[in-house]
Amino acid sequence: MSDNQELTRPSWDEYFMEITKVVATRSTCLRRHIGAVIVKDQRLLSTGYNGAPCGLAHCGEIGCVRTVNQVPSGERQELCRGLHAEQSAVVQAAMYGVPIRDATIYSTHQPCSSCTKILINAGIKRIVYQYSYPDKLAEQLIAEAGITYDCFG
Ligand SMILES: [Zn+2]
Ligand SMILES: [Zn+2]
Repeated sequence: MSDNQELTRPSWDEYFMEITKVVATRSTCLRRHIGAVIVKDQRLLSTGYNGAPCGLAHCGEIGCVRTVNQVPSGERQELCRGLHAEQSAVVQAAMYGVPIRDATIYSTHQPCSSCTKILINAGIKRIVYQYSYPDKLAEQLIAEAGITYDCFG
């Protein structure tokens, strides 16, 4: 048993990506459950999932304007009261004074352009995601900022 254990250990990317999926299960968004974790030197520094700001009513409780109006995926994000997972993870780090410069963010989904701008200014250097979420502006910004993008799995 102890001999084989070494062989079955997940890689760091597998490990943190698995954690983002657990984090995503806390999401309260009516559409997509997204999780994100910020990691530096193989240490988990912050987590976030998408949903309403802390203590406020969730879209599931009072209805989401985007769902009611059938707004297509990726459009008019500002209409929803929810924060994105990546935003929530950056804010959590700020709240507790945890430096995330040069860190990696793992997200279940490719970050949108709003999150991408925040991640660039937070000093994130690598973005790892599992599911692609095409956003031309986000991809342009990432290329211009010289951040590493890794699609996982
Ligand atoms: Zn909503
Ligand atoms: Zn986003």
